[in-house]
Amino acid sequence: MTRRTRYSALALLRHGLGRQDWPRVVDHHEPARSYQVVIIGGGVHGLATAYYLAANHGITDVAVIEKSYIGSGGSGRNTAIVRSNYLTPEGASFYQRSVELYEGLAAELNFNVMFEQRGHMTLAHNDSSLRTMHWRAEVNKTRGIDSSVIGPGEIKRLVPFMDVSANARYPILGALWHPPGGIIRHDAVVWGYARGANAHGVHIHQDTEVTGIDVTNGAVTGVETTRGRIATGTVINCTAGWSSLVAAMAGVRLPILTRPLQAAVTEPVKHFLGPVVVSGTLHVYVSQTARGELVFGASVDPFASYSTRGSLEFTENLAKHVLELMPAIAKMRLLRQWAGLCDMTPDFAPIMGFTAVDGFVVDVGWGTYGFKAAPVAGEQIARLVATGSVPPLIAPFSLDRFENGRLVGEKGAAAVGH
Ligand SMILES: Cc1cc2nc3c(=O)[nH]c(=O)nc-3n(C[C@H](O)[C@H](O)[C@H](O)COP(=O)(O)OP(=O)(O)OC[C@H]3O[C@@H](n4cnc5c(N)ncnc54)[C@H](O)[C@@H]3O)c2cc1C
Repeated sequence: MTRRTRYSALALLRHGLGRQDWPRVVDHHEPARSYQVVIIGGGVHGLATAYYLAANHGITDVAVIEKSYIGSGGSGRNTAIVRSNYLTPEGASFYQRSVELYEGLAAELNFNVMFEQRGHMTLAHNDSSLRTMHWRAEVNKTRGIDSSVIGPGEIKRLVPFMDVSANARYPILGALWHPPGGIIRHDAVVWGYARGANAHGVHIHQDTEVTGIDVTNGAVTGVETTRGRIATGTVINCTAGWSSLVAAMAGVRLPILTRPLQAAVTEPVKHFLGPVVVSGTLHVYVSQTARGELVFGASVDPFASYSTRGSLEFTENLAKHVLELMPAIAKMRLLRQWAGLCDMTPDFAPIMGFTAVDGFVVDVGWGTYGFKAAPVAGEQIARLVATGSVPPLIAPFSLDRFENGRLVGEKGAAAVGH
């Protein structure tokens, strides 16, 4: 890190005794007339990419353009699940690198991202789900990922409140158990990357919207923003739920539908739930935060929309299904629910890499599972931009796979268990 105050117990003491203000995490700048790289979207992907461009490749003439405030999109609305037990070899290897980066992220960024590896459990309620769990476990093991199928006895030991009896409406036959999975503090990750990028000299422009992308002779030449034109030869699209609209500004069509995803949180209670628990059959998952709230999520709403309003239908279905798993929490009260936008691809895998427009790079298609991918996506996209070649880890996720029919089918591991 080049210029920033290090956070430490000593720094805390010094600030406390001296009654000094802490320096701003993100400095304010007027937009420059040009940057080497312009990143559209100040979510975790845009900020991580900016950080790794600067930290790993010394490319600091970078602007992150965010139309609202950093983390205002999916990055501040997700349920913060991190795991790597995906179904395809390409997906599992990719997400495994992210888990490894997350494990060292607090130290790298000197920012407590509160990563709690409490384990991730995906329940199987029927034979076909159980078969998929075995399949995932075998693929995972070939990638060195800690992942195995466990039975109802072990499930009950890990989650004593779970109804594993044969009388349950959807009896639990087994589960995919992934000890390194867990939850993280999403806003801390966003602010940690923002602080790191800012310290390296990256300009983060909040309240600044990109309204157009200039393309001349098939190559990017700049972006139009609500604060003026910025010349650049490289634009990275990190706008998730808005990514097809932004790509269209450069004349690039993405196979993406934007769909809302809702989540909800209860009042805090004493800790009783260790792992993250997912049921694909019941379309629900639950984890308990460090503060004691239960966080619930589900699958995306069954329609395309840019609305982030919650619905009563979601809450009713959620409550019904959660109580089938854990009848003992019937008296808990929901505090609030919210929604975010998800950029869904046909194969439930992301799109990363170059496009037909020279200098227009995409890091999109993050659907309901992209928060956990931010470190590896940022690292790899930064490498792609710095070297001009596609790193092997992200080569399977290119945009042209939809033309060539080389899909990366991740639906079996990504539809509900984000
Ligand atoms: C309820 C919910 C639960 C989820 N749970 C999980 C989970 O448990 N684990 C997981 O891994 N993932 C999860 N996700 C998915 C995850 O949140 C996203 O995939 C991830 O945050 C995408 O990050 P991003 O930085 O690409 O996009 P975002 O964080 O959405 O950032 C995109 C930014 O682009 C900005 N923008 C858009 N258009 C423009 C423009 N024209 N000019 C300037 N700025 C623009 C937006 O304001 C936004 O801030 C969940 C999502 C939701 C909604």
